[in-house]
Amino acid sequence: MEKLYLSDTRFDQLAIDKRILSSLQEAGFERCSRIQAETLPLALQGKDVTGQAQTGTGKTGAFLVAAFQRLLTEPLENPEAGSVRCLILAPTRELAIQIARDTEALGKNTGLRSVLVYGGAGYEKQRRQFEEAVDILIGTPGRIIDYWKQGVYHFKQTQVLVLDEADRMFDMGFIQDVRFLLRRLPAPEKRLSMLFSATLSQKVLELAYEHMNAPSSVQVETESVSADNIAEHVYFPANNEKIRLLIGLMRKLQPYRAIIFVNTKHNAEKIDNFLRTNAISAAMISGDVRQNKRERLLKEFGDGKYQALIATDVAARGLHIPDVSHVFNFDLPQLAEDYVHRIGRTARAGASGEAHSFACEDTAFYLPDIEEYTGKAIPVRSIDIELLPELNRPDASQRHDRPPHGRDNRHQGSRQRARTEVQASQRKVQELLPAENATVPATKRPRRRNRKPSQP
Ligand code: ADP
Repeated sequence: MEKLYLSDTRFDQLAIDKRILSSLQEAGFERCSRIQAETLPLALQGKDVTGQAQTGTGKTGAFLVAAFQRLLTEPLENPEAGSVRCLILAPTRELAIQIARDTEALGKNTGLRSVLVYGGAGYEKQRRQFEEAVDILIGTPGRIIDYWKQGVYHFKQTQVLVLDEADRMFDMGFIQDVRFLLRRLPAPEKRLSMLFSATLSQKVLELAYEHMNAPSSVQVETESVSADNIAEHVYFPANNEKIRLLIGLMRKLQPYRAIIFVNTKHNAEKIDNFLRTNAISAAMISGDVRQNKRERLLKEFGDGKYQALIATDVAARGLHIPDVSHVFNFDLPQLAEDYVHRIGRTARAGASGEAHSFACEDTAFYLPDIEEYTGKAIPVRSIDIELLPELNRPDASQRHDRPPHGRDNRHQGSRQRARTEVQASQRKVQELLPAENATVPATKRPRRRNRKPSQP
């Protein structure tokens, strides 16, 4: 896999402790990625940094190396029991798990002890990890606060703070928890603080200025929001063509490893049933799939047991799955940022990838905002008839989307609401479309506000 994003700066040209360098070398890290090359010289000198970079650019390596260096060169003079020397906050369990894995690998020869905590699993087991001294604590805000309140550890001597995916902390409603924790740390000038975010919005910058010491701001890849090495395509299927189109594309493109994004758990289950009934191996993760099962499915997907992973945005946040060749947006996301996060699952570490998005009757009107945000028009693909194969239908007993017995009166209110919402969104599509029929013709696209010229 060619690593196009690497810079000319080598790690051994920087003032980095030998123990870190040898761990980096064993992990195959020789040259810095751009975000690493730009943030490390600052952070290694003890300057606070805010970095704007998308997932897959090497942010984790950047903050870990700086954190290790600080911990190795400034040992605590009078360590108190329960001291956490470095606190790394991540918005999701999956991201926290990934950071913990990277900490093990990139810090292998440093002798620093790291511990991972996150909600939803192993309360007592995670707690027991603190019976020995901990250098680095990685986790999600809620569980970290929980143990802090019980006096399991404290942050009075914390030397390094990392906030990863800070914009997600806001999106996911964790910001009060984050502020609570930041107020328990030593003053900003007494610690090294690093904040990373895909977007440095006003609210993220306010947080940085309040809790960091005059941070330097580093931005990577601002000129193009989505990665240049992803071939993007958009299709305009009718709602009832989407499953057939998905399976038609899977059969035609034969993805090595695909992630299929959906907006609802209902769609995730429907696709899961259809793929399995049509001989495509798939796993599904939505917010309410239990943590242990989610981790198992993700590992199996990474090991190649399934060709496709079906995921909602929350379930897929911050995932690092290698070699994803194709991303399918079965539903276009409502937020343009989510589009960028989703397609960023492929083409990681400089590889190339493909993103195929369905602008259907319910989601086509998100397209103008997405294109405005990414600054480019997504090339339209027509839907040839061979992309709409006849499918085996899942038998009713397999389908999660039906109540098991008879009619489920409890959900009548929500069904009626859902129908009304669908009708409203169909009316909205009608307004956007030149055609009279709500079915979006394959070769037509909605009129766009402020349409930008396509880029070559
Ligand atoms: P981010 O934290 O920005 O999402 P990662 O740190 O996970 O990105 O990096 C993406 C992938 O690139 C990972 O597989 C990681 O191991 C690899 N990687 C990161 N930096 C380097 C480097 N300097 N040299 C080689 N591989 C790297």
